[in-house]
Amino acid sequence: MKKDFSNKLSEHYLKQKRKGKTSHKAENQFPIHKFKAHKFNALCHLTLQNNLNVSEERNSNHLPLDLLILLILNQSTTDTLSDRAFQQLKKDYPDNKQVNYEKILRENNPAKLVKSIQICGLASTKAKYILNALLYLAERGWLDLEMRFVNQMSDDEALKAITAIKGVAIKSASCLLMFGFGRNTFPIDTHLFRIFKKVGGILPLKTDSDRAHKLIQPLVEDIDAFTIHVGLIELGRKVCNSRKPLCNQCYLNKICDYALETVEEIC
Ligand code: SF4
Repeated sequence: MKKDFSNKLSEHYLKQKRKGKTSHKAENQFPIHKFKAHKFNALCHLTLQNNLNVSEERNSNHLPLDLLILLILNQSTTDTLSDRAFQQLKKDYPDNKQVNYEKILRENNPAKLVKSIQICGLASTKAKYILNALLYLAERGWLDLEMRFVNQMSDDEALKAITAIKGVAIKSASCLLMFGFGRNTFPIDTHLFRIFKKVGGILPLKTDSDRAHKLIQPLVEDIDAFTIHVGLIELGRKVCNSRKPLCNQCYLNKICDYALETVEEIC
């Protein structure tokens, strides 16, 4: 049924394109709220169809608390550098091949922590976030590597509890729940934002992360958010790059406003 709709939607767009109508005119032919959901459904359907063999592990190799700290370290830097900072934490605060978070909290030595993680940049801000996060968890009796408190909570409750930690925004909290706990949350990172913007008709023009989450999360409740998230990240990295999107190699090109408006002959 979804397939029929996405095909119909593609045909509708191509017809508009042939008639020389802009996508905005095309959008007006649907009730706007319905259109956005349908356009997103079409994107999900095509992404699932083209990512049948998503091979990444559903759950991260990291324990949830390690993952939270890695997400903080990863802000505005590369995976390689945040991984190196995390390895250094393990060396500086060792505890049987794990990071000794209780020691970090007990010592409460920002200078030592900054030195330990400096390779990943913004070290003093990240050190503050890490200390705050550990304190927040400890005060509530939640400081354990598995972050077991999450298991007692619904997705919404857990997102609220995690985003209450300073420096942990909705994208990181959704990542933690998706990769650390196998929940069906849907992190929207810069790749996904860019793709949604290019495809058009999914998010209002000026949408911040919180609003994007509120609009999109209800739409993925009954579908495989993990595969769609991982599939779109791959697409963003390899095909829909910010400088020169390779629209003729993209499985979304028949529903994408950018491609329909700029590419002469869509394959
Ligand atoms: S068709 Fe082009 S612009 Fe649209 S999502 Fe694909 S690569 Fe990006």
